[in-house]
Amino acid sequence: MRFSFKRKGMLIVVSAPSGGGKSSVLRGVMERVDNLSYSISATSRPKRAAEVEGKDYYFIPREEFEKRIKEGFFLEWAEVHGHLYGTPRALVERLLGEGLDILLDVDVQGGLELRRALPQTVLIFVMPPSMNALEERLRARQSDSEDAIRLRLHNAATEIQFWSQYDYVVVNEHLEDAIRGVENIIHVERMRASRLTIQKT
Ligand code: 5GP
Repeated sequence: MRFSFKRKGMLIVVSAPSGGGKSSVLRGVMERVDNLSYSISATSRPKRAAEVEGKDYYFIPREEFEKRIKEGFFLEWAEVHGHLYGTPRALVERLLGEGLDILLDVDVQGGLELRRALPQTVLIFVMPPSMNALEERLRARQSDSEDAIRLRLHNAATEIQFWSQYDYVVVNEHLEDAIRGVENIIHVERMRASRLTIQKT
């Protein structure tokens, strides 16, 4: 007789203050971890030059976004840095039903909301090594106005206070270590007994 285990898909939320280097961490994780999907969010924020519609985000006007909120289109949504961001419900529910794990890049409000909706959600906080490093990274990407940078820095201080409500903290000092940290968490969470059902064949 062989033991084989089955489990349902899980949500893996990665949150970090803007400029925390989260996108590079997520890209690395997506390249290396099997059976992982990425949830593409919708946003009312204007598209940055380097971003691709349907890959980075679905860019939709604020009015359309608000209409969709009322229709229950989003699993969670939040206003972040003056723009609306949300996780489309349909794809996430379908992929979870198929047993796939889903990586989500959402802010701390979204992370805690997803945890309330689906308690087995894994919350990972990616922390910048310092506020100075955060500021340098925000300036280096040259994609936001000075006002936007100031707003993001101000909000970062608030977001960082949420770290202790998360399950894991990964300090992003060196990209490679941070990617490996998130990778390891996913591998361990996949073995959590409470996620598994046994099948004797
Ligand atoms: P950015 O404008 O830099 O791409 O993202 C700003 C913030 O919005 C980040 O903290 C990011 O995690 C968050 N965000 C992106 N998509 C979503 C989403 O679907 N829901 C929520 N709650 N936050 C999101």
